[in-house]
Amino acid sequence: MPEKKIVIIGAGPTGLGAAYRLQELGYSNFVVLEAANKVGGLAASEKSPNGFIYDIGGHVLFSHYEYFDKLFDKLMGDDYQELVRESWVWMFDRFLPYPFQNNIKFLPPEIVLECLLGLIEAQKQPFDLSRFNNFEEFIYGVFGAGIAKYFMMPYNFKVWAHPPKMMNKEWIGERVSIVDLKRVLGNVILNRDDVAWGPNSTFKYPRVGGTGEIYSRMQPYIQAQLRLNTRVTGIDADKHDVILENGERVHYDHLLSTAPLDQMILSMKDQVPAEISEHAARLQHSGSYIVGIGIRQPSPSKKCWMYFPEDNCPYYRLTYLSNYSPDVVPDTKTHYSLLAEISRSPYKPVDRETVVEDTIQGLINTRIISETDRKDIVDTYLIERDYTYPLPGLARDAALNAIHPYLESRDIYSRGRFGAWRYEVANMDHSVAQGVEWANRMVQGDKDNELTYLAKRGC
Ligand SMILES: Cc1cc2nc3c(=O)[nH]c(=O)nc-3n(C[C@H](O)[C@H](O)[C@H](O)COP(=O)(O)OP(=O)(O)OC[C@H]3O[C@@H](n4cnc5c(N)ncnc54)[C@H](O)[C@@H]3O)c2cc1C
Repeated sequence: MPEKKIVIIGAGPTGLGAAYRLQELGYSNFVVLEAANKVGGLAASEKSPNGFIYDIGGHVLFSHYEYFDKLFDKLMGDDYQELVRESWVWMFDRFLPYPFQNNIKFLPPEIVLECLLGLIEAQKQPFDLSRFNNFEEFIYGVFGAGIAKYFMMPYNFKVWAHPPKMMNKEWIGERVSIVDLKRVLGNVILNRDDVAWGPNSTFKYPRVGGTGEIYSRMQPYIQAQLRLNTRVTGIDADKHDVILENGERVHYDHLLSTAPLDQMILSMKDQVPAEISEHAARLQHSGSYIVGIGIRQPSPSKKCWMYFPEDNCPYYRLTYLSNYSPDVVPDTKTHYSLLAEISRSPYKPVDRETVVEDTIQGLINTRIISETDRKDIVDTYLIERDYTYPLPGLARDAALNAIHPYLESRDIYSRGRFGAWRYEVANMDHSVAQGVEWANRMVQGDKDNELTYLAKRGC
């Protein structure tokens, strides 16, 4: 049987994962169309004119897959750093170890009391996810009013740029650290530090090139099938063609799209039933400004990343990126770098003109740097992306349950962070896995094994 023609839109981790797996399986009749001038998508890295490398937000690699681990080892060899996961929360003018709720003993006593009373009240009812209609109800029902007020509500608004009541609770899984009342009480009364959370205590980071290096190293395997600077502007599903910016048509038998699902539906124009377009219009997302700051000083801290729920700085997360790898700054003996993540949406507008200065002022407000350190800031770099977090909104699951089967009936498969639109399986390892599992399905026919995309594995 001649191989069917596969077209892949996007060379981010999902598209690369699919393409890499196709070539691994000996399949060659495919092409990858990538709008940007390089691979990696949101997991790519950028180099500033001053020689600092920044990721599009702090990328912490936390693999759920043996396949991904082996691929990483093959691509990176020994060119990586193994780092201890050390994260912190900045509140009330001090750092607490993450997770917040296990370390409230570091807060002022009256706040500790308020958090504990709220927690005890909330936990009078046994945990039952079905009691909650949305993420806000989940927060109050599980963590109580105090922890909700000081951390969970403001922090989540800052990350998602949408009020938690607009979000469902289906995505939570391991993404939110659930609270254990006995442990919290014990930590407060016994004055116990509690920093262990989650299954992995270390993570890997490329020694050179930033996070994007992982994906740059996949490129040679699929170079013959890769077309960079090639944006898909339309899909003619009736004819099974994608239409490029220059009007060229590329025929497919099967189409894998990793572009944002709502945009992809729009690009199909009036070939899509009204009901599907309406569902797509209900999908919500946020965008980001990522601000990189290079400072001519040795790193003053060993911290990895920090969370900031308060409104004294625009960022929700800050990373000492140069603590991940010496290669991301010109010289680690004399320089370090910070990476600030700021979300935005119509519910949380951010002024692009002032975001870099607001970030620097935030660093001073949160005592990461002092006013006198300003003179040592030798690099500022702004990355902006319109699609960074696919919101698990209240209408999401109904929309996905309608859109994906419709697309598949037309030989179109939408996968990846914004293709599948399932945040719970939207990290790098999940994305590569979505691509790999899809390729397995296309070549080997194992339809039921696309478990990651269905959020049945790895979440
Ligand atoms: C702020 C932030 C922090 C993150 N932190 C982490 C982390 O700590 N750990 C982790 O594992 N993951 C993290 N991620 C997630 C990680 O970046 C994603 O898992 C991954 O990039 C998703 O891969 P993807 O291929 O599905 O999508 P993308 O990376 O978005 O790639 C899609 C590609 O398709 C291309 N494309 C889109 N439309 C078209 C078109 N019409 N024509 C042609 N090409 C097109 C784009 O240019 C892009 O290259 C983070 C993401 C963000 C935004």
